[in-house]
Amino acid sequence: LLTLMLILTLAALRARIVMTMIELANVWRTYRVGDAAVHALADVSVRIEAGEHVAIIGPSGSGKSTMLHVLGCLDRPTAGAYRFEGRDVGSLAEQERSLLRRHRIGFVFQFFHLLARLSAIGNVELPMLFAGVARDERRQRAGEALAAVGLTPRAHHRPDQLSGGERQRVAIARSVVMGPSLVLADEPTGNLDRASAHDVMDLLESMHRGGLTLVVVTH
Ligand code: ADP
Ligand code: MG
Repeated sequence: LLTLMLILTLAALRARIVMTMIELANVWRTYRVGDAAVHALADVSVRIEAGEHVAIIGPSGSGKSTMLHVLGCLDRPTAGAYRFEGRDVGSLAEQERSLLRRHRIGFVFQFFHLLARLSAIGNVELPMLFAGVARDERRQRAGEALAAVGLTPRAHHRPDQLSGGERQRVAIARSVVMGPSLVLADEPTGNLDRASAHDVMDLLESMHRGGLTLVVVTH
């Protein structure tokens, strides 16, 4: 009986740990251009469990970025349902969606999207500024995030004083500084030489091993 109870407890724990993070059900995203309709996403159904590392692969124009924007609540499906951590995001108000984006989801883009006039540490602080984190705590957490990507010596450099690989590491530090559960990366190595691309993927993979759910677009 004791063994059975133990097995049931473990099964219950496991059920809680392996939880569905993302569920797209029959999702469409249709762009209208004049009279034409472009179905960037046509009836997509997919499920991603917490802790998974998923690659979205396809040729240019196949809808990868569109899918990532929908997953990251930067865009809404034209039709179909999107559940994130069990909540129907389609029915959330814009303010709730932006809270979700800010606290649960990190983004990494092909062209880094860093602010040119801010230093590396300033860029990493930005999400916390929007979230209303106090100045001292911002500095401290941004410093830790930069240390985790090996960029402490570059903290006060502006993006134009950094290499491509370093810029992407800053962007990765920024993407995780709020402690998200999910990181979405859109061709994060598409603009990097082979060695930097390798470093960036290593870094993302080590963050995945640390518990993040990771969805990476690549072609
Ligand atoms: P990928 O990232 O795989 O290259 P995208 O998701 O960017 O593909 O685009 C998918 C399709 O949707 C393409 O055919 C593209 O031309 C079209 N598309 C993307 N964004 C828009 C837009 N804002 N307006 C109209 N069509 C768009
Ligand atoms: Mg794209």
